[in-house]
Amino acid sequence: MSTTEVPPAAAHDGGHGPDHVWSVDEHLDDILGAVRPLEPIELQLPDAQGCVLVEDVTVPVALPPFDNSSMDGYAVRVADVADASTEFPAVLTVIGDVAAGSGGADALTVGPGEAARIMTGAPLPPGAQAVVPVEWTDGGSGGGPATAFRAAGANPEDSTGEVRVHRPAKDRAHVRAAGSDVKAGDTALEAGTVLGPPQIGLLAAIGRATVLVRPRPRVVVMSTGSELVQPGEQLAAGQIYDSNSFALTAAARAAGAIAYRVGAVTDDADELRATIEDQLVRADLLVTTGGVSVGAYDVVKEALSSVADEDEPGSGVDFRKLAMQPGKPQGFGSIGPDHTPLLALPGNPVSSYVSFELFVRPVIRALMGLADVHRTTVRATLAADGPLGSPAGRRQFLRGTYDAAAGTVTPVGGSGSHLIAALAHADSLLVVPEDTTEVAPGAEVEVVLLTQ
Ligand code: AMP
Ligand code: MG
Repeated sequence: MSTTEVPPAAAHDGGHGPDHVWSVDEHLDDILGAVRPLEPIELQLPDAQGCVLVEDVTVPVALPPFDNSSMDGYAVRVADVADASTEFPAVLTVIGDVAAGSGGADALTVGPGEAARIMTGAPLPPGAQAVVPVEWTDGGSGGGPATAFRAAGANPEDSTGEVRVHRPAKDRAHVRAAGSDVKAGDTALEAGTVLGPPQIGLLAAIGRATVLVRPRPRVVVMSTGSELVQPGEQLAAGQIYDSNSFALTAAARAAGAIAYRVGAVTDDADELRATIEDQLVRADLLVTTGGVSVGAYDVVKEALSSVADEDEPGSGVDFRKLAMQPGKPQGFGSIGPDHTPLLALPGNPVSSYVSFELFVRPVIRALMGLADVHRTTVRATLAADGPLGSPAGRRQFLRGTYDAAAGTVTPVGGSGSHLIAALAHADSLLVVPEDTTEVAPGAEVEVVLLTQ
């Protein structure tokens, strides 16, 4: 390394010394300050769902492209039905059918005293000025009011004859005008729009097959621990099932990412380094769990503290203590030739999940180019049997259930970071600030909604 380069560790410790205890906000700011949205790519419409558009999309052809009927009925000339009533119906000659998809050179022209049977969405034929719904006619049956076309009318040959119209129609009645939805040259969607189902529908309607968007980030989730066994296998003494990689892969997917789960890596620094190297090719973001505290087998810390390699100035992972509970030990940095961001989360299941919600989810959403990277937070009244204790100087995130109607939040389970079942029954995080050591029932607290 030349003397002008910043040592990798310094580049990632935010200028703080190794003993600095980071606040949740400092850590998050440090992470988000280092993450840039992914480069846009052209995607097929179905693959662009949930992505952020990076181009203004202009309408090439008006919608609807032509005047068309909004009802099943008869295309008529207004003057021919002006005096129509049930008692004195207007009797018109039916010259044929106009079905959806018809048109062009063989189009019918409606002359005086004539009507064309027309289906919803079919182009209004030349000469016609309005559509009378079939319910205002005898349906061509020669009798009273109809609620549907005469049964024989499926065949165009049989659709000719007479129709009795019982009510007048105003000019353009039941006609959807060309361009009444959007006009050619209009902006259909602006850059920055998140493509939900209706937006995908609009793009298809104006004929776009592909769009320029920021892609979904590819997130590789890796758990570490020699005690971990994959679900479905037999547990031996001292072993537990790997739940973190499943929970966090699901959380990454729910956040909008394309998530890849890598089964548990043993507590071996070389194996972990090799696995990370293998995974870099398909990762926009790497997430590890476990091995970040100060235990003897804290392999992530061991393996990644030393990857601050000389060929990659600015890369490296900084391990730090956070003023939060759960989730005190955290690692953040970048790795590999593309400086792929890496978050090393603690191993306890609740700690890793809470850390994911607080730090990884915003990264995924920042990579996607979304403006709003955070969960919705609300204020709620604490509903609990007794006061909640919280450690001084640490922001605590307890699991809770939020009742929007009552405006209350109820803690689920205790503060233990191993309580997976309680987490599975929670829908929110109840936030106790750093300087608060006790929250009494009835007090107002901040709640992070995990579902919005
Ligand atoms: P560590 O930080 O690696 O010491 O892990 C802290 C605690 O979380 C230990 O009790 C681990 O067994 C547990 N743990 C670590 N990783 C996982 C995982 N992937 N699934 C479930 N529990 C885990
Ligand atoms: Mg471990």
